[in-house]
Amino acid sequence: MATIAFIGLGNMGGPMALNLVKAGHTVRVFDLNHDAVHAIAELGALPCSSSCGAAAGAEVVITMLPAGKHVRGLYLGEEGLIQTVADDALLIDSSTIDAESARVVAEAAARRGIEFVDAPVSGGTAGAAAGTLTFICGGSDAGFARARPILENMGANIFHAGAAGAGQVAKICNNMLLAVLMAGTSEALQLGIHNGLDPKVLSEIIKVSSGGNWTLEKYNPCPDVMENVPSSKGYQGGFMVDLMCKDLGLAMQTATDSHSPTPMGALATSLFRLHAAKGNGKRDFSSIFEQFAHQQEQ
Ligand code: NAD
Repeated sequence: MATIAFIGLGNMGGPMALNLVKAGHTVRVFDLNHDAVHAIAELGALPCSSSCGAAAGAEVVITMLPAGKHVRGLYLGEEGLIQTVADDALLIDSSTIDAESARVVAEAAARRGIEFVDAPVSGGTAGAAAGTLTFICGGSDAGFARARPILENMGANIFHAGAAGAGQVAKICNNMLLAVLMAGTSEALQLGIHNGLDPKVLSEIIKVSSGGNWTLEKYNPCPDVMENVPSSKGYQGGFMVDLMCKDLGLAMQTATDSHSPTPMGALATSLFRLHAAKGNGKRDFSSIFEQFAHQQEQ
């Protein structure tokens, strides 16, 4: 069993850290939000008063923060984690951030001879709680080999996508495609509804036809077609439109930097930003379905 520092105990980090506690590791936790620290301390984690305090002497440090600026701020600089952790510490960042920030932090760690693995996740808060996340890792073979047994306590599928930053690139490729599929599926279902079809019947047809995809199998955006999905619960819970917009922004930046044509991703980005601007930022991303509905006449 290892001594692990876990920093960032939000919607994802809290349940992930708890799974490490349940696996028998010594888990030292810190978050700027004291309530989040206390909640997991009551379940067996050791509360710390600073990130460096949690990380000092730990064999593994895991971070789960909102965005690249938070990750750079925590790891870099004279008082950053990289300067204060033990010589043989393994650093794992599971936040979804820009690949460039992941590479900059990995290079700074390498200058101290420390392994840094970017390991963003797919699977949402339900996957975090159930310990069934997919981890998509970037880093050296040695870093990945050390990270894998730790990540297995929190996830069911652990992939090594390539060198530093590759985990973040693979993650945003996936989420860009997910956004395209959700918007396209919504558009197709609304087209059927406007022409008199039952969305349940149409969904069953497309699911086993050439238009079949993950959103129809697991996350139908039309209310009351599937049970226990956000669309059947008022689009509450699940994956927020604001977070999808963040990921699409990262995808568009990556496309710009690599001169990659991504017209479908660009259109999906505009659609989700429009949806957020209309006050839907905190709702589940499948609520994009409503953008394609016929409006009721006043
Ligand atoms: P969250 O906002 O709930 O949690 C982030 C936590 O980080 C907060 O508790 C905040 O207080 C803490 N924090 C920020 N800066 C800190 C610092 N310097 N030191 C210590 N703590 C700090 O976010 P989340 O939903 O847990 O998501 C975390 C990351 O995972 C994001 O990058 C997100 O895009 C990604 N992600 C989220 C989901 C999801 O469904 N929520 C799914 C996959 C990936």
